[in-house]
Amino acid sequence: MEHLIQGAYFLTVFLFVLGLKKMSSPATARSGIKWAGVAMGLAIVITMLTPGLHNVGLMLVAILIGAGVAWYTGGKVAMTDMPQMVAIYNGMGGGAAAAIAAVELLRGEIEQTGMVLLSVIGGLIGAVAFSGSMIAFGKLQGLIRGRPITFPAQHALNLVVLVVSLLLGATLLDGDPITIMIVLFFVAALAYGVLMTLPIGGADMPVVISLYSALTGMAVAFEGFALGNAAMIVAGTVVGAAGTLLTQLMAKAMNRPISNVLFGGFGKAVEGEASEIKGSLRQIETEDAAVMMRYASKVIIVPGYGMAVAQAQHKIRELMDLLEGLGVEVKFAIHPVAGRMPGHMNVLLAEAGVPYDRLYDLEDINAEFGSANVSVVIGANDVVNPAARTDVSSPIYGMPILNVDKAENVLVIKRGQGTGFAGIENQLFYKDNARMLYGDAQGVVSELIQQLKQLD
Ligand code: NDP
Repeated sequence: MEHLIQGAYFLTVFLFVLGLKKMSSPATARSGIKWAGVAMGLAIVITMLTPGLHNVGLMLVAILIGAGVAWYTGGKVAMTDMPQMVAIYNGMGGGAAAAIAAVELLRGEIEQTGMVLLSVIGGLIGAVAFSGSMIAFGKLQGLIRGRPITFPAQHALNLVVLVVSLLLGATLLDGDPITIMIVLFFVAALAYGVLMTLPIGGADMPVVISLYSALTGMAVAFEGFALGNAAMIVAGTVVGAAGTLLTQLMAKAMNRPISNVLFGGFGKAVEGEASEIKGSLRQIETEDAAVMMRYASKVIIVPGYGMAVAQAQHKIRELMDLLEGLGVEVKFAIHPVAGRMPGHMNVLLAEAGVPYDRLYDLEDINAEFGSANVSVVIGANDVVNPAARTDVSSPIYGMPILNVDKAENVLVIKRGQGTGFAGIENQLFYKDNARMLYGDAQGVVSELIQQLKQLD
């Protein structure tokens, strides 16, 4: 039986790695998710078959409740709310690892100090990932304001809470800890997660979300060591490694050192500090915008979160086909943090059938805006805000942006005066070469298509 269980765990691990590999390309990502799901199901079945397992009934009830809630909410959640969902699931993973650590520490049956240490480290990281992810969820859902929440002596307080959690963790290492110490340890760790996330501004959330996913993976791997569970070790390590790489990529995209995230040092610019914007907004009719695109030789489309809200990707693809049919060169410029989750724009455009070779990353397309006749900003805001280049007081200062303003003309499609996720005004909209096309992205692009068809 033991050999069978270990063999099945090996298969689980293989399927997890296969799933992750497939997730690295949009073309195979869907099947990757399925294989990872099969691996998870298998891991649960093997665990339930482990000889000498207690409380099987309770576990089945918990699995049924968890699976039921996930099935229902997963089916109902809108594509635009997916990042919040990811934040919750990240948090749940960290919380589960912390819960395992709490149970093991309370039982006091782990004998080797090394294993207790791993359990404590996993518990600490898991609890931080749990409470931090919940704050990230609150910010993404709009329950907590997206701007940095700061107060005097915040850094000192964060440091004190972190040191207290570490000291409390150290007291648990003798293998026979007092219950109150375990409780205090987890309370301090949870408080640190909250305090660490509050000062981080909305625009920096991509770094935070990927960081917590990395932490959750690590917490699960540590608990896997403590429990001697191979599937947890490998799954946790894989998630931890993928999350760490993603954190680095996101931090690079935001031009933020990761150390700043850990010590709550960024997102410092606060309300009211951004420079005042001069000039006026100029509107354009869809008819004129269509003419502008019709006679362009090169158009660069810049999608953002608003495209996802409007579900305008199919219409945008239609617009691309139409323009290409008229001999206009069309390219898409994708900012690494556009939308609300890594790869958000790529996924939506791939779903609409936009060929991958039309999508260009920031560093590959930025030099091309100068030679474009029109750049069309569809529901993007923060990722095209020139304040990132020039305004040192702006919360997004230093973030590389798409240089849409370098194009001959800029068309901006948005519903009204709404700011982006960072909650700041955008100087781009006031530039001489910028024209506003107000309305829901799907509706406006449909009108543009109609107008273009009439031009022929
Ligand atoms: P933004 O959030 O900066 O701006 C979106 C714009 O879309 C708004 O100004 C809004 O203006 C407009 N909009 C909303 N709905 C519609 C609609 N139906 N039709 C047309 N326009 C619409 O988006 P960006 O993609 O430029 O930037 C992403 C931001 O999110 C960055 O700050 C990034 O850091 C952050 N973020 C990214 C994550 C990631 O992993 N990618 C994760 C978490 C945060 P109006 O209301 O006037 O229409």
